[in-house]
Amino acid sequence: MSHYTVLNVSPSATLYDIKQQYVSLSKEHHPDVNLNSEAAQTFMKIQNAWEVLRHETTRKQYDKELSHQRNEAKRRTGEISDIVSVSNMELDEETGELWYPCRCSNRYQIDSTLLEDGVDIIVVCSGCSLKIKVENDL
Ligand SMILES: [Zn+2]
Repeated sequence: MSHYTVLNVSPSATLYDIKQQYVSLSKEHHPDVNLNSEAAQTFMKIQNAWEVLRHETTRKQYDKELSHQRNEAKRRTGEISDIVSVSNMELDEETGELWYPCRCSNRYQIDSTLLEDGVDIIVVCSGCSLKIKVENDL
């Protein structure tokens, strides 16, 4: 459960909205008011979430971790929409990345230095949850 879910706010919520939500939830679950142990746990989670999300720097760091986790989850669960050979991908000479267009108009991108002989790699689209299998035919 993410800190945003704990506070029941969207990841794009403003600090003001998050604070409102924090104040009302922590009153509701405060151990002085609510004596069961589950409420105490929830109260702790609310405090933790607020401590992270109230500061711009820790919130940014947390958002980064969250998006990393999401990408990892996509890598494991998304459908493979296509199988592409390395020789069919475009090379971006500036970044050294190989890319292939996705139907959502974003790109599948992979750092060409990650390619190993004969090893296939799963690449997730930068804009949606589709992924392709890249077959190393070089
Ligand atoms: Zn896409």
